[in-house]
Amino acid sequence: MTSSITFADLGLDPALLRAVTETGYTQPTPIQHQAIPVVLDGHDLLAAAQTGTGKTAGFTLPVLQRLLHTERGAKPGRPRCLILTPTRELAAQVEASVQTYGRHVPLKSLVMFGGVNINPQIAALRKPLDILVATPGRLLDHVGQKTVDLSGVSILVLDEADRMLDMGFIRDIRKILALLPKARQTLLFSATFSDEIRQLAQGVLRDPREVSVAARNTTAERVDQSVHLVPQHLKRDALSHLIRRHDWRQVLVFTRTKHGANRLAEKLLRDGIGAAAIHGNKSQSARTRALEGFKNGDVPVLVATDIAARGLDIDQLPQVVNFELPNVPEDYVHRIGRTGRAGAAGSALSLVDRDEIKLLAAIEKLIKRPIDRLPLADFDLSAPAPAAAEASHPSERRGRAGQPQERRGDRRQPERRSPEPRQPSSRPAQTADAGGGRQAAANRTAPSSARQPAAARDNGRPQRESQAARPSGQARNEAGPRRAAQPRQDASRKSGAGQRPPRAALLGR
Ligand code: AMP
Repeated sequence: MTSSITFADLGLDPALLRAVTETGYTQPTPIQHQAIPVVLDGHDLLAAAQTGTGKTAGFTLPVLQRLLHTERGAKPGRPRCLILTPTRELAAQVEASVQTYGRHVPLKSLVMFGGVNINPQIAALRKPLDILVATPGRLLDHVGQKTVDLSGVSILVLDEADRMLDMGFIRDIRKILALLPKARQTLLFSATFSDEIRQLAQGVLRDPREVSVAARNTTAERVDQSVHLVPQHLKRDALSHLIRRHDWRQVLVFTRTKHGANRLAEKLLRDGIGAAAIHGNKSQSARTRALEGFKNGDVPVLVATDIAARGLDIDQLPQVVNFELPNVPEDYVHRIGRTGRAGAAGSALSLVDRDEIKLLAAIEKLIKRPIDRLPLADFDLSAPAPAAAEASHPSERRGRAGQPQERRGDRRQPERRSPEPRQPSSRPAQTADAGGGRQAAANRTAPSSARQPAAARDNGRPQRESQAARPSGQARNEAGPRRAAQPRQDASRKSGAGQRPPRAALLGR
């Protein structure tokens, strides 16, 4: 946090200051301190900030203020601000933030994402609208059906732009940009300023101010990082051992594949440890249940793939485990960024097989520091690999860089990052949500008390496309304001993991 600066010093409207105070924030985070005045001044912005830095309030607060102070009169289906995000979870979280920070201002917001029935969204678009939070695919579906009119957009926010590029959204973004007025304010947020992002920014931003709260590819400083060298075939036992030994109550475990996530969660359940897997093949209701259980402490272990974990905003996450190192070193930085959020301390532990040493070296090179190798106490690392069983399992075979190798086209493939054709826009949702059925898209006035959204379902479609309108009733029942800088969880809390019974290029303006 920036020491003496307050939100009031940033020139925010009293109605927004009130909401910020009610949310429990006392001081702006560095990205908020840097970004808010720039956006309020009407400049385009190129911001390097990872999830967890408070970036959402960094753009939401000044956007609300600018909309509040410029031409009024929301029109049906014609947003004045468009916020594009890569995933449905992030879209829902951002819109929840819009509501939280905008609860005392008369602005209306709507979130839309694919993978659910489009009709409730069409109905919601018939009502006046100021801020539209959307994923690119579903937004283009609506454009195709002429249910949304983007000609009134005066502010465009590209949130997690690096993810959008990573997930193959560039064409969709290009199409959307072509529909927007050229005279607009554009804010581009990205975890890093990669060359690709700079290229995108060049085409999209006009005379942008640049702010950055994290040096390029540096690891969150407040995260304790360590490594246990563990043979692949012993990792599952080692993880159970660690969870019990440290009495971890909330740990996010990363696997490289969806199948690996399932298998690990099943093993933990067999060991009497409450666990759930979350990945792109899970239904919306399964994902929602898993996430809610994890957030409220019922399920101490959430096993996730990289893509599934993106956009999850989980407070006070004290522990992240890399069950397998990611192929891409940058993903390590994103993974461990799940802990130590907005100033809170956190710990990231990686279980590294001999074959993964090369990946570890690449990560250490990227973060420019060695990661401590710690001995794994009270655990027998000498047990031989059950050769036939393990070797025959595709998720355990080693690839070139020591990663489990997956067969092409089978369900054990890593979560995809490349785009797939969109669903026909008229196709209805295939499953109802956990809250009891399909709901109308959330077209609400900002004053709603809704908070964090539930995760939505993927159901086979690439995750970027599988967005869902969050039911407002469900949102209202969810957890209170998100806060950061909370103390780490106290190991003396009751019901620990071990005791818990198992439950189940580019762009022109
Ligand atoms: P974000 O990077 O936008 O995903 O925010 C990460 C977390 O930081 C969220 O849980 C926010 O509620 C929280 N947060 C945002 N701004 C502040 C602040 N000024 N003080 C404390 N927590 C904050």
